[in-house]
Amino acid sequence: MPKIEGSCLCGQVTYSSSSEEPAMMVVCHCPDCQKQSGTAYSTNVLVPTSSIRFDGDSRGQYVVNGDSGQPVTRNFCKNCGSPLTTELPAFDNLAAVKAGTLSDSTWVKPTMQIWCDSAQPWGALDDSVAKAPANPG
Ligand SMILES: [Zn+2]
Ligand SMILES: [Zn+2]
Repeated sequence: MPKIEGSCLCGQVTYSSSSEEPAMMVVCHCPDCQKQSGTAYSTNVLVPTSSIRFDGDSRGQYVVNGDSGQPVTRNFCKNCGSPLTTELPAFDNLAAVKAGTLSDSTWVKPTMQIWCDSAQPWGALDDSVAKAPANPG
């Protein structure tokens, strides 16, 4: 598996994780991921938040409280707008690395879909990928 590292579209923000392997690979159909990604869902590689190092000056953060009441922190590039990671303290302190920003994402294979209750009919995925109605239980 290639190293978990990547960048935004303009290249001003880069990141890398010291984690060798993702804890999970998850597709998220939640309304917030639809807004942020500009499409039907986000595809995420989950690693411990503490394993991620960012470089570059143009990283912005957008924070909302999730269903758990705990903050959900979205890291993005203020220059080009690419979503990079989402920090999820309520979810084992994992961070969701946006798979499309990886330097090499060819190995990514989601094993679970979450927030399927808000999934769009035009964003349907292969039914063989397990589904959860909202956050995994
Ligand atoms: Zn950028
Ligand atoms: Zn989501």
